[in-house]
Amino acid sequence: MISVEEALESVLNRARARAPITVSLAEGLGRVLAEDITSDIDSPPHDKSLVDGYAVLAADAKTTPVELVVSEEVMAGETPSRPLTTGEATRIMTGAPIPVGADAIVMVEQTELVDGSAAAVRLAKQQVQVGQHIMRRATSLRRGDVVLSKGARVRPIEIGLLAEVGRPKVSVFPPPKVAVLSTGNELVPVGDSPGAGQIRNSNGPMLGALVQRAGGCHIDLGIGRDDQDSLTQLVGQGLQADVLVLSGGVSAGALDLVPGVLASLGVAQVFHKVDLKPGKPVWFGVLADPTGDKLVFGLPGNPVSSLVCFELFVRPAMARLAGWSADRLATQVARLTNDHQHRGDRPTYFPARLGLVDGQSQVELLAWKGSADLRTLSSADCLAFFPKGERAYHAGDEIDVVRFP
Ligand code: AMP
Ligand code: MG
Repeated sequence: MISVEEALESVLNRARARAPITVSLAEGLGRVLAEDITSDIDSPPHDKSLVDGYAVLAADAKTTPVELVVSEEVMAGETPSRPLTTGEATRIMTGAPIPVGADAIVMVEQTELVDGSAAAVRLAKQQVQVGQHIMRRATSLRRGDVVLSKGARVRPIEIGLLAEVGRPKVSVFPPPKVAVLSTGNELVPVGDSPGAGQIRNSNGPMLGALVQRAGGCHIDLGIGRDDQDSLTQLVGQGLQADVLVLSGGVSAGALDLVPGVLASLGVAQVFHKVDLKPGKPVWFGVLADPTGDKLVFGLPGNPVSSLVCFELFVRPAMARLAGWSADRLATQVARLTNDHQHRGDRPTYFPARLGLVDGQSQVELLAWKGSADLRTLSSADCLAFFPKGERAYHAGDEIDVVRFP
């Protein structure tokens, strides 16, 4: 059986970013840039005042208090009409260009009008340094600078920066289309009451939500019955997407028909079964396609196994399809709060909860009742990792954990 690392590697090797698309700035949120972004402006575009106050010559304020004649008033969006000469001050607002000649700004709070008239201002007793409260032109960025590189993730901050440098449209990698199909004769939709032997389809909605959270376009294929025809028809539909995620039907049961149906539709198996707990029966294959190979994941039906396999394999694959390079699992180290006996036949991902105590990450293992126990999982925010091998862990031991959203 292959390891999680080998399995992930072979998934990522087959996941290529899709052809870029041009979208509006707002639609770029959450996507990955498919182009370098070059600024068409200097920022700030002029030497600007960082406060509301008076532009002065620092030399005039060597000894304060001092009275200066107010030459003009410049609002943000206006430009000064004349240079500043000795003995003068220009009333200036935050963001406005400073007049030629001025080399410092005095905050309005440190001034008062002379005889209540706007024609003259008195600077309070203070030190005035050359350059104070002035941001020089192009301090932040220069026209022609590459301000964002291909591969950068577009967060709200990048939306602001793209707007600043005049990009109403950007080229990004499209969100992967991910079809989700839950298989099983025992499944009924969420709105139905399960009859004898039946359960509700919890994986379908959960996997759909995971897909959306991971930035994909979710295509809901509903429930497929454990028969060749139903599965063939729905899998065929799912193969229109970039990724098809199936749950159930990949174990050793008499009606675990998924691998056979996939093979009959030309999906080549890459691996079946990974040395992992929970999630061992996970299946992965590809369907060759000129626009990029279609990736097919058969996740085990138990909800916790499905979630673990989604986090380990599907999420990183989706990240790669979306052009994101940070597609490896983000693990962190935390200290166990409880003792734990690891039986050790397989590497194990155990539902757990992270906390911070005295600045240290701590991880509490939850009283988890197996792969079908979604309820306990709902108290979890991470998976605690125990490598293969029989071992007694003690409270305080450091272990790796994988967060999930
Ligand atoms: P399977 O992988 O098809 O053998 O299913 C393993 C277990 O997961 C069985 O107990 C199924 O009833 C359960 N299961 C399968 N699919 C789902 C689903 N969509 N929602 C909840 N449980 C499921
Ligand atoms: Mg089944």
